[in-house]
Amino acid sequence: MKSDVKPIDAGDDAIRLALKDANIPALMASIVHLTGNTEILNGPVTPITAPLSDSDDGLEEDQREVIREQALQAICDYRDRGCTLPPLPDEETVREMLTFLTGLPVPDGYMPILEEELAMDGVDRRTVEINRSMSGNRKADFKVLIIGAGMSGILAAIRLKHAGIPFVMVDKNETIGGTWWENTYPGCRVDSPNHLYSYIFERNDDWPAYFSTRKTLFGYFEQCVDRYELMPFIRLQTQVDQAVFDEGSNSWTVDLSGPDGPETITVSAVITAVGQLNTPKLPDIPGRDRFSGPAFHSARWEHEHDLKGKRIAVIGTGASATQFVPIIAEDVDSLTVFQRSAPWLLPTPDYHTPVPDGKRWLFTHLPYYAQWYRMWLFRRDAADGALPFLFADKGWNDRRLSVGQGNDMLRTELIAYIQEQLADRPDLFEKSVPDYPPGGKRPLRDNGVWFEALKRDNANLVTDPIVEITETGIVTEDGAEHPVDVIIYGTGFHADQFLWPIKFVGQGGQTLSEEWRDGPRAFKGMTVPGFPNLFMLYGPNTNIVVGSSIIFFSECEMRYVMGCLKLLLEDGHAAMTPKREVHDAYNEFIDAENLETAWGAPGVRSWYKNADGRVTQNWPGTHLGFWEITKAPDPADFEFL
Ligand code: NAP
Repeated sequence: MKSDVKPIDAGDDAIRLALKDANIPALMASIVHLTGNTEILNGPVTPITAPLSDSDDGLEEDQREVIREQALQAICDYRDRGCTLPPLPDEETVREMLTFLTGLPVPDGYMPILEEELAMDGVDRRTVEINRSMSGNRKADFKVLIIGAGMSGILAAIRLKHAGIPFVMVDKNETIGGTWWENTYPGCRVDSPNHLYSYIFERNDDWPAYFSTRKTLFGYFEQCVDRYELMPFIRLQTQVDQAVFDEGSNSWTVDLSGPDGPETITVSAVITAVGQLNTPKLPDIPGRDRFSGPAFHSARWEHEHDLKGKRIAVIGTGASATQFVPIIAEDVDSLTVFQRSAPWLLPTPDYHTPVPDGKRWLFTHLPYYAQWYRMWLFRRDAADGALPFLFADKGWNDRRLSVGQGNDMLRTELIAYIQEQLADRPDLFEKSVPDYPPGGKRPLRDNGVWFEALKRDNANLVTDPIVEITETGIVTEDGAEHPVDVIIYGTGFHADQFLWPIKFVGQGGQTLSEEWRDGPRAFKGMTVPGFPNLFMLYGPNTNIVVGSSIIFFSECEMRYVMGCLKLLLEDGHAAMTPKREVHDAYNEFIDAENLETAWGAPGVRSWYKNADGRVTQNWPGTHLGFWEITKAPDPADFEFL
């Protein structure tokens, strides 16, 4: 695991300057490492709970200054003794530090997941070793196909390579990176805290921003592909057309089309890593094809059109639109935003803020500062985060606006934020308060730029439903015609068409689309009865609405998949498929739990639900819950062939 820091040769003044930018809780933990002394944990300065950003740590400036002075002393001593460290704190001390970090007791059961995430000893506990002596040559003959070379596919490739399992990875695109390559719209950036958004075994400590742009993220995944020398295993511009399970040989016959034409390969297992959000969804609005000007989807941005001075329509106010609208608003002649539902905004002061130089220096020079900063985020967002506020209270019967007491409090707080932003525009305020519970859809990060854009003189927020698109513009239900030069669809993706358009044919000639005629379902989001050795990453019911980062979930899933491969290879089975009754019981649990959440509330419409209103995308529990059910497969849940 990567945890290198550079040696310190900076002078006292430069260190003092860098410390001005420090995250105080992470700095305090780092002081324990530098000094081997835990006194600071019992001192008068105690971090506060649930801060929104680094600059909002709840401490008084003189308290921060006390900590910075102690840190300066500890860092200079460390530098002057040749950058050597005392032994690592013992387990008990690490637990004390984990508790201290956010000023909250560690929630029940969370200690093991926090210790794994912290990886103080540099051990990657999410990796799975496959016993070489027992599996012998079987491993060499067990070839795996990975579909998709984005975040999850690259992770799968790294894990398989480490285990010595042969694999090939295909991607339809001309390069790797998945969503970070496909989405090039202005303002596209990660909306999870970036210092949580990297693989646990390939932590990046030097992000340029708290929420970096897509180019930086794409660069990170390119670097991973280089570092783990994956390119020779990747076939680009290669589409999987169909995969058929051969019950004679217990293998998959896969038809590919690539740059050299069609090809058929045979593999022992298939891992899909195609994402949930890659097929753009254009709305079914009458007349859509009649529009004579440029019209494109946010995920297929047509950069050849200069928007400067043009009349622009944006349809949709989801995560994509709220990122690009504030960027394009400045240059265009007019901007008409068509909103069907108002988004909930999560105040995020650091959303566009570069990581200050001092903090970047600390990340790259101060031992264990980066690990503790990441842990601070993880505790804030995964362990102590907003999630409990999105769960319903039993007996809270009217779930139109909120689903429970906590959720209702959150609603009040988030409305206060909107009110504060729009104190001068009551007309906009009325249109901007969502009419569904907070957390019904993914809350969107905001540092004030969304309403700043909508308040501009050249902007107009239209909430009347669209009835028609004409050659020259958009007509709304009130009869108004909005003439525009360009239409941009920020209308999301065909999220519930998992794995589409690939055709999977499993045991008995059953297709996956038949199996999923009532919507996609899988056991723990990864396996489906009748489709042996088909493993899905980011499959049905594995998405999160708020929390740490989706990489955490992919890492949990890939550990489970590797656990399955271990069972196959070490115990001498050819294939495995989950038992029908186990799969069904699991999905009953998922459906019941999802109904008790803000995103499962009856009035909410979102990409989390399919046409029947069932939540097909989201995991209904906590991070801990998913971590626990994916630690290792239970052989009793499967039939082996
Ligand atoms: P989205 O969240 O599905 O938003 C689509 C928007 O289009 C919604 O406002 C929707 O309104 C509107 N819409 C759809 N059909 C419409 C119609 N016929 N008429 C009027 N409005 C219509 O899509 P997205 O913004 O692309 O985001 C999808 C997901 O991608 C996000 O939830 C997030 O998970 C991910 N994402 C992540 C990032 C990031 O990390 N940086 C950035 C972008 C996206 P309704 O709400 O009324 O349906």
